[in-house]
Amino acid sequence: MQITERAKNIEPSATLSISARAKALQKQGRDIISFSAGEPDFDTPSVIKEEAKKAIDEGFTKYTPTSGIPELKEAISKKLEGENGLFYSPREIIVSCGAKHSLFNAILTLCNPGDEVLLPKPYWVTYLEQIKLAGGKPVFLEPSPATFTAGIEEIRKALTPCARILILNNPSNPTGVVWEEEELEKIAELAKEQDLVVVSDEIYERLTYDGAKVRSIASFPEMKERTIVINGVSKTFSMTGWRIGYAAGPQEVIEAMGRIQDHSTSNPTSISQRAAWRALQTDPCLVEEMVEKFNKRRKLIMQHLSEIPSVTFPIPRGAFYIFANFSSYLGKSFQGKSINSSLELAEILLEEAQIACVPGIAFGMEGYLRFSYATSEENIENGMKRLKDFINQIN
Ligand code: PMP
Ligand code: GLU
Repeated sequence: MQITERAKNIEPSATLSISARAKALQKQGRDIISFSAGEPDFDTPSVIKEEAKKAIDEGFTKYTPTSGIPELKEAISKKLEGENGLFYSPREIIVSCGAKHSLFNAILTLCNPGDEVLLPKPYWVTYLEQIKLAGGKPVFLEPSPATFTAGIEEIRKALTPCARILILNNPSNPTGVVWEEEELEKIAELAKEQDLVVVSDEIYERLTYDGAKVRSIASFPEMKERTIVINGVSKTFSMTGWRIGYAAGPQEVIEAMGRIQDHSTSNPTSISQRAAWRALQTDPCLVEEMVEKFNKRRKLIMQHLSEIPSVTFPIPRGAFYIFANFSSYLGKSFQGKSINSSLELAEILLEEAQIACVPGIAFGMEGYLRFSYATSEENIENGMKRLKDFINQIN
């Protein structure tokens, strides 16, 4: 059967496939410690689950408006106002099947074939593939060595007249870095000067540490009209499987995204929408408790990784990932097997040290490994011990 060039050109998601492989090996009885999962390991809070059960019992099981139920859009509008200082009416909001879906709708709506999309490195795996699916041309931005974010110079260097969109992910997956406000302000000025649209993925915004504050780029003067804010409940409320994300932006863009959604998925699951509505009204303590736990784990994994000779990493102040530079171990070998890339290093770690992590190359940066610390302190202790024992045997 014919498979289109479009489909052939798409890579599988490294983050999803490595997590799935780790789970499959665990199921076979292998003692794998996984640092690959990009999802909180906590259960969805029970008030949220109860709301979903209530929705089912009430027969809330039919189609809803494509762009989401009015109550949920109202709750999102309030959230954006209260937490981000952004005023969006429900007409400027669309609810989709996960933030990934919101992003895809946004890229399909904004990117014409041949348009350049500025993508700061290291990037979350899905951005690149979605740009390719839309026929856009990714233009990679190198991270500045000091901050690990794309600075204004890097963006200026990469600009051409075909540049249309800039993707920002703040806090970042895979590094956990948080953009400073001054940096965002300069990027906002540049976006206005160059007529760029910003797709701002803020899905990890509530998961921050060391007092880091995430400011939405949409909140800078005159930026709201050129920004699509992407967010969702997956990470903040430990709801990855419920598949609810959302986008906020200018009404005509949101309506166009709605037309795409009309003909692709229709509404996101009615029951999940009710659960997400409840999630947005929960006591902030619920999220704060999770953040506290993540923070303990973050400190633990930073401590362990910093004890490994020559390994460095940008301090993660958000999300639940750490992106560590192992390039001084490339070109070496383990029990006669040579290690020449982050992919080979991740493979050999899985086979020999029984720990799963994601190779940096999946995020566009060779020599690095991404560890998710959305796992127990015990797993972090044991997994890091395995990593250190393994490193001691490399020569
Ligand atoms: N953006 C980023 C940066 C992510 O890491 C993820 C992880 N899945 C998503 C978006 C998508 O989230 P969702 O599960 O809501 O589709
Ligand atoms: N975003 C998470 C990750 O990076 C979940 C998997 C995915 O959707 O890519 O691991």
